[in-house]
Amino acid sequence: MSQQGYVAAPPYSQSQPGIGGFSAGFGPPSSSHHYGDPNSYSAPQPVVSKSDVPFGSSAPVGPPPPGTHQIGQTNTQNGPSTAGQQPHRFQGPPPQSSTGLSYSPYSHQTQPAYPNTASTSSTAQLANQLSSMQINSYGPGTTPSSCPSGHPASFQGPQLLPPAQQQVALPPGPWIPPPAVKSLCAQPSLPPMVRQDGIPAPVPPNPNLQQLSGQPPGPGYPQQANYGPQMAGSPLSYPGAFPGGPAQLSGPPQKKLDPDAVPSPIQVIENDKASRGGQTYATNIRGQVPPLVTTDCIIQDQGHASPRFIRCTTYCFPSSSELAKQTRIPLAAVIQPFAVVPPNETPLYIVNHGETGPIRCNRCKAYMCPFMQFIEGGRRYQCGFCSCVNDVPPFFFQHLDHVGQRVDHYERPELSLGSYEYVATLDYCRNSKPPKPPAYIFMIDVSYRNIKSGLVRLICDELKTLLDKLPREDQEESSAIRVGFVTYNKVLHFFNVKSSLARPQMMVVSDVEEVFVPLLDGFLVNFQESRSVVISLLNQIPEVFADTNESETIFAPVIQAGVEALKAAECAGKLFIFHSSLPTAEAPGKLRNRDDKKLLNTDKEKTLFQPQVNAYEALARDCVANGCCVNLFLFPNQYVDVASMGLVTMYTGGTLYKYNNFQLDADSSQFLSDLRRDVEKKTGFDAIMRVRTSTGFRATDFFGAIYMNNTTDVEMAAVDCDKAVTVEFKHDDKLSEDSGALIQCAVLYTSVSGQRRLRIHNIGLNCSSQVADVYKTCETDALINFFAKSAFKAILSQPLKTVRDILVSQTAHMLACYKKNCASPSAVSQLILPDAMKVLPVYINCLLKSCVLMGRPEIPMDERAHQRQLVMSMGVAETQLFFYPQLLPIHSLDLKSDVVPAALRCSEERLSEGGVFLLANGLSLFLWLGVSAPPELIQGLFNVPSFAHINAEATSLPDLDNPFSKKLKAILEHLQGQKPYTMKLVIVKQREQPEMLFRQLLVEDKSIYGGGSYMDFLFCLHKEICQLLS
Ligand SMILES: [Zn+2]
Repeated sequence: MSQQGYVAAPPYSQSQPGIGGFSAGFGPPSSSHHYGDPNSYSAPQPVVSKSDVPFGSSAPVGPPPPGTHQIGQTNTQNGPSTAGQQPHRFQGPPPQSSTGLSYSPYSHQTQPAYPNTASTSSTAQLANQLSSMQINSYGPGTTPSSCPSGHPASFQGPQLLPPAQQQVALPPGPWIPPPAVKSLCAQPSLPPMVRQDGIPAPVPPNPNLQQLSGQPPGPGYPQQANYGPQMAGSPLSYPGAFPGGPAQLSGPPQKKLDPDAVPSPIQVIENDKASRGGQTYATNIRGQVPPLVTTDCIIQDQGHASPRFIRCTTYCFPSSSELAKQTRIPLAAVIQPFAVVPPNETPLYIVNHGETGPIRCNRCKAYMCPFMQFIEGGRRYQCGFCSCVNDVPPFFFQHLDHVGQRVDHYERPELSLGSYEYVATLDYCRNSKPPKPPAYIFMIDVSYRNIKSGLVRLICDELKTLLDKLPREDQEESSAIRVGFVTYNKVLHFFNVKSSLARPQMMVVSDVEEVFVPLLDGFLVNFQESRSVVISLLNQIPEVFADTNESETIFAPVIQAGVEALKAAECAGKLFIFHSSLPTAEAPGKLRNRDDKKLLNTDKEKTLFQPQVNAYEALARDCVANGCCVNLFLFPNQYVDVASMGLVTMYTGGTLYKYNNFQLDADSSQFLSDLRRDVEKKTGFDAIMRVRTSTGFRATDFFGAIYMNNTTDVEMAAVDCDKAVTVEFKHDDKLSEDSGALIQCAVLYTSVSGQRRLRIHNIGLNCSSQVADVYKTCETDALINFFAKSAFKAILSQPLKTVRDILVSQTAHMLACYKKNCASPSAVSQLILPDAMKVLPVYINCLLKSCVLMGRPEIPMDERAHQRQLVMSMGVAETQLFFYPQLLPIHSLDLKSDVVPAALRCSEERLSEGGVFLLANGLSLFLWLGVSAPPELIQGLFNVPSFAHINAEATSLPDLDNPFSKKLKAILEHLQGQKPYTMKLVIVKQREQPEMLFRQLLVEDKSIYGGGSYMDFLFCLHKEICQLLS
């Protein structure tokens, strides 16, 4: 089995063990729970009742057709539990180094809102240690594949381009490990240091940092000058162990280190923009490293998938598993199969071989692609994945030219392009029947609070226009998607909106234990045909429930109702659920408040990320098995247990939107923008993804908003343009440097028009036995995506501290291996970073500090669960921005230019009292105003005379006819761009309360919640690397 790789599964795996065995429904049937309808919608008995409220006349509703919707007796709650029970990557014991130092009690209640003093003196102190820092770069002439053997030249790194690698020289001596740690990296030549709280001796200005302007000072530069005892308080254990107490922060102001001495993410981003921005990037070369995800360019598919679809952690795999283990670089691809292709690039071609269907390798079932080698005059082809020689089907035969290429090579997308689609045949459809177009079901919580807040009316009003914008195929005039409507509180209300009706009809289902759909005909309709009935319904819903006093809600039965409706209609689809409160009504999936702060930083913290009842996992399986994607719009004003409520959304490829303390005035535009974008989004339904590889390696782990029923098929009830699946690969044999490492991702899905299709993405990577080749082609942004997702998956099964320790340890291993194999021996005491990874430490530190991995009582658990869920489905561009936010200086805008100003590093050091800054991470957006911001700028943006007059409650800027305002509005629009979530603007005035939130995103600084600064982390890493190499 194993050497054959992914042998011959049927194209669409019909049998779905574990899913098929479950019939729908929850739990044992209980006849004792019948809940009457409290809202005067007639009798609770029978459970289906015709509405007597003004939904019009007629048609008594009969019982459901026998057998169709009756829920069997199966108890789905006994299904195997999947989430949270499968430790994957993070299984090792925690590294020994991170012992001892616990959270120092960071009494941030006593902190002023603007804890300037602390961080400044902290920085000053670090400056002492860092004043010996030296950043060395090997010149551009060095070929990285041959490890540099000469003397490293010292440069002030970031300015030198393109450096082959970057060295940060940290004298190892002074970093005294905490007592509990083994002696790590003390150099024999250095005097033994004692840990003490003394004040470091004044340090001479670092000659390195001042003398250098591209001039190598020569190898003899003294690196270990006398720096005295440093790092009082020892920030060595990581994370959360950086004591920020005043004891360590006292002392006279010290000389500040120039932060530009350490690698800057902004510099890396800007350099790549400068060298590759605006150009055409052709994907014609195997293993070539694409432009950074932050660089705008035009992608031309010439045989490998666009980096919009696939990005890899490295574009050159180690040729053996031994080498892979040595480097510890994760081998992974981040696949975003439905990524938006901009209008100036070519959309995917669709190949249609009619009834024959796609051409596939007989043995490994890989699809025809540029990696197939035609032989014997074109009569046969050898599979690039498994080497099997296949006959070319007669209809597909073509002669070869003088170089052995088919003469129709460039006429066929499947021979010459990295990405394309196939029209699938009936073999690829459920029950061998062509699929029906998908359906969207809108399910609105009409309990007291949603009615009173105006939310229900807002949703209904919006849908009246939004339903005209349902997604459709480019060539079609209107959308084939059908729509249906449900409202609910403690019971469910279904609506018949059949076009022939004069008015809509409501049917109440009060048996929430065994939900069924009370009508087939008239529930899912074409909006264009039923427009008047639907509009009438949307007008009436807010009125009908206007006087409700029902505050309890159900939740799981709502999803169950949706999936039953799709089953009955035999189609895939999406549920749009608008919900506000913890579902406490007596029903399956009932939840209690379990927001227990005492569990933070204990071994039980992980349970807070797991669902509290099994019902949701069973429900998720049922949804995935039936192509039912669940989008959840949450409007909580207290704890709602996102970890439980969001589980089905996560497993079904849906999106969870959350609007805390929703206020109609302040939050409508954010919510409506999210809703519109989601409804209009390009989406593949009822999808199953398979990743095939050439021999020698295989996909072993998958991370994303996905469901895995076996080890190879990635099931997604739906997959939209924003969702990315991160796939990890492992060796099972040696890889050939000649043939490289080939990857083919195939997504079988149903289109918006109901056509079954296959979307194929191919990419070829290089292989090498040289360590340096692997490091040279790494992509830090993809690495961070991988590390974030694997860590966020691991926290379901392991203590957070273990997960953080493993992240640090693995980063240190990667860098240590590089240093050992690729750096000059003379660099023994230096922190050496490969060029392609030089900002890896700052990003890893941002990940370590994220609120998901760092439990603090101040951070609501729902927020952590929400962020965890969002990150799991993010693509590379999104994780890059999320972990390293964009900080833009607004006061220095060039009003004449359309160019967005270059971003600044995310540190307080970059702020100024006289400035105005935008800060965005894809979820949050802040406009920070310094107390001395120029009055003319304030006038221009807010139309008020001074800082004091600015209303910080506003969530948007006034539309003003002046260049400042117009320019900022344009920048805001650009920032929002193609982002999956609408960011709500928060105005932050310097030294006022909301500044705490803003400062959380200044990720290079020490976090108020205990995470260390970028500098702290470099020391920590350096220590670990020294330990590994000693
Ligand atoms: Zn094959």
